[in-house]
Amino acid sequence: MKLSEQIRKLSDELEQHTIEVRRTIHRNPELAFHEYKTSALVCQELARLGIPYEKNPREPGIVAVIDSGRPGKFLMLRADMDALPLQEQTGLPFASSVPDAMHACGHDVHTANLLAVGEILNRTKEDWNGKVKLVFQPAEESGGGGREMIKAGLMEELPDACFALHVEVGERGVIKVGKRYISAYTDGYTLTVRGRAGHSSAPQEGADAVYIAAAIVTALHGIVSRNISPMEHSTLNIGTIHGGYAPNIIADEVVLGAMMRNLSKEAREEMCRRIETISAGIAESLGGSCECRLREGYPSVYNDEAFSDFVAEAFKKDAEEMYRDLGDGMPQNWLVTGEMPRLGGEDFGFFAQKAPSCMIRVLMGGEAPAHNPKFCIDERYIKLCTRAMALAAAEFLTQDL
Ligand SMILES: [Zn+2]
Ligand SMILES: [Zn+2]
Repeated sequence: MKLSEQIRKLSDELEQHTIEVRRTIHRNPELAFHEYKTSALVCQELARLGIPYEKNPREPGIVAVIDSGRPGKFLMLRADMDALPLQEQTGLPFASSVPDAMHACGHDVHTANLLAVGEILNRTKEDWNGKVKLVFQPAEESGGGGREMIKAGLMEELPDACFALHVEVGERGVIKVGKRYISAYTDGYTLTVRGRAGHSSAPQEGADAVYIAAAIVTALHGIVSRNISPMEHSTLNIGTIHGGYAPNIIADEVVLGAMMRNLSKEAREEMCRRIETISAGIAESLGGSCECRLREGYPSVYNDEAFSDFVAEAFKKDAEEMYRDLGDGMPQNWLVTGEMPRLGGEDFGFFAQKAPSCMIRVLMGGEAPAHNPKFCIDERYIKLCTRAMALAAAEFLTQDL
């Protein structure tokens, strides 16, 4: 039997169990770096399947290994386990039982799906070469769980490729394989403007931090329009401003909170340089000072061009198996490829910095977008996630060296 056919049959066999695992995780959501019950469930499932695993030193991350025992490629598959601080409003029978915590980004699906993919690869390991690592990471939404696992040694042996998927609300069954940047560098700045306090009747004796901050805010908004290429899709938002005491006092300190999003490293560096020089220059020219503190966020996910093409070709080759007996069948435009830049953050970016990577998106119905308390997907399409990931992996692991 062809490997693609075996994968399809196994995905059918595992479907019900995968949905149950997903519902268990959905009912018991855990926030960033607190995914201990989820992680314990992952370990319990891996043990049941006889797949060896280790707890990454950065708890509660888990890394499992499926080794064919033959030389070949080394592929890393990643899922995230954390939920969001939201009160669920879906009314589902398996809705969150935890107040103010909800899987509203589909990470419950990612985790359950990766277990199913792991089982399929484990049961077909006579038919492919090399090895696979399954990475179950904590804290994607905040805290950079992927970055922390990498710091703790996850990438000491570099994989030939990393692969991940993210569920998305939209036309059931559509798969998006983006090329190049598919998410943004998301960094922040805290700008502390300092002046000199004084009586509002004698402004010449003070240095007004509110006035300086206002000039800085206005000037910083010129960076995107004047200094960054419009092709870069950058944004800069100054979202908070705090300072001052009373209308009759000249303020000596104002703190600004800024958030920047850039697709490329070059645009990010230029934006950092401009923020720092403009803020410091304006503050100094107006008799004050400005301290700029960068809060590093996530790097953008760069979908390697060759590997993304490879993944898209694998889907085209096995499309028939992938959509057989699935939900409402194959949508007309089931595969979307090409550049699809977005300005969201995604900590898979840390993986993509280390090895050629690809993150795909699988559209699974639903109406409310991700991070919404009514977020909900059509479970019939979890099987599409399983098939797509297992097929891409199998195709990668059966290549000639
Ligand atoms: Zn999210
Ligand atoms: Zn997510």
